[in-house]
Amino acid sequence: MKVHLKQIPSEGLHLEGEEDCPIAELETEGVSCLGPLSHKIDIGVSGGALWATGSLKQTVKLRCVACLESFTHDIKVPAFALRTELHGPETIDLTPFMREDLLLNLPAHPRCDRDGGRICKAAQRYAAEQESKRKSDWSALDRLKLKR
Ligand SMILES: [Zn+2]
Repeated sequence: MKVHLKQIPSEGLHLEGEEDCPIAELETEGVSCLGPLSHKIDIGVSGGALWATGSLKQTVKLRCVACLESFTHDIKVPAFALRTELHGPETIDLTPFMREDLLLNLPAHPRCDRDGGRICKAAQRYAAEQESKRKSDWSALDRLKLKR
């Protein structure tokens, strides 16, 4: 996403819309883009620097580390902010900044139940195991009581 400095009025500029997914190269790591990047940002120029603040959202498909199933996740950057010194070029590409913030907000160990929308099969299995373990603990205790 390139911004021409001449197009930025002194009071700043509000940008809202969609861009190509900036992290398409992560396909090999099990992260696939679902649709474009939505952004709402305010940009401005002051003191020889460009600043921008706003929010980003990119829907991606991730693979759960527990059950290995794919699930949909929104990478949200609620407080996107950047400030970069201006030297020379009249256009500034915001894409690298957006990519960096998306990557920072990408879960390192994604779990399909992280957003509360579904129950992870692996977690369910784990809960069932814990439950049967707890029951056998109780039955051991019951046996102990009977002996007295
Ligand atoms: Zn899962």
